[in-house]
Amino acid sequence: MIEIKDLHKSYRMGSNSLHVLKGINFTAEEGELVAIMGSSGSGKSTLLNILGMLDLADSGEYTLDNVPIKDLSETKAAQYRNKFLGFIFQSFNLINYKSALENVALPLYYQKVGRKERQEKALNYLERVGLKEWATHLPSELSGGQKQRVAIARAMAAEPKVLLADEPTGALDSKTSYEVMDLIQKINDEGNTILVVTHEEDIAHMCKRIVHLKDGVIVEDKKIEQVRAQQYV
Ligand code: ATP
Ligand code: MG
Repeated sequence: MIEIKDLHKSYRMGSNSLHVLKGINFTAEEGELVAIMGSSGSGKSTLLNILGMLDLADSGEYTLDNVPIKDLSETKAAQYRNKFLGFIFQSFNLINYKSALENVALPLYYQKVGRKERQEKALNYLERVGLKEWATHLPSELSGGQKQRVAIARAMAAEPKVLLADEPTGALDSKTSYEVMDLIQKINDEGNTILVVTHEEDIAHMCKRIVHLKDGVIVEDKKIEQVRAQQYV
């Protein structure tokens, strides 16, 4: 599903440049649930943004569902991104003056789905995240956990194959974090490939595989069973 080879990324800072990703090699099969960990500034968001086609690497290969991303024109890349990728952010990124339902319906609007079908589908996704009764409410009337569930419903509404979540529980208390991760696990059980950036160990432990970034490279990549087995040695 996802394959990256020797990925490099630097940011230019005036006359200097900051080499953030220094040769990342990574693959994820369809249906995986992978946590990406690493200290602040280690390049987790940079990597996720490249995987999400929101940013380009300086060099290296990125193949998504067997398509080399570099070969796509800008228009094709945007279409491809909308079709394959969904995003969840720490700060939810909901539109404040739109209801929960309208927020969820938004990607369907961009996909040119008709109004009635949009509303039906959006309501269905809100129901799946347990927020049907909150459809007409504004984000300001929802708790943090509820906002994130709306954001997840919105990401799901576009029916992406891959969900990319950057610190999805970063703004939530631990109980709400577990609830959001339960939902992410449920979505993964239904077949979605999901990458979750987190610096919280217990959140990472709710994924099936944990990858550690350090100094611009992946220093550890283990299945959760391996991680758990090691804890008892
Ligand atoms: P955090 O856990 O704090 O979110 P992160 O692992 O997600 O950190 P990144 O946001 O990927 O880290 O940033 C990696 C490094 O690149 C940091 O030193 C950051 O300051 C720098 N950086 C990120 N984005 C830019 C940018 N657009 N321009 C310049 N430097 C950037
Ligand atoms: Mg980050």
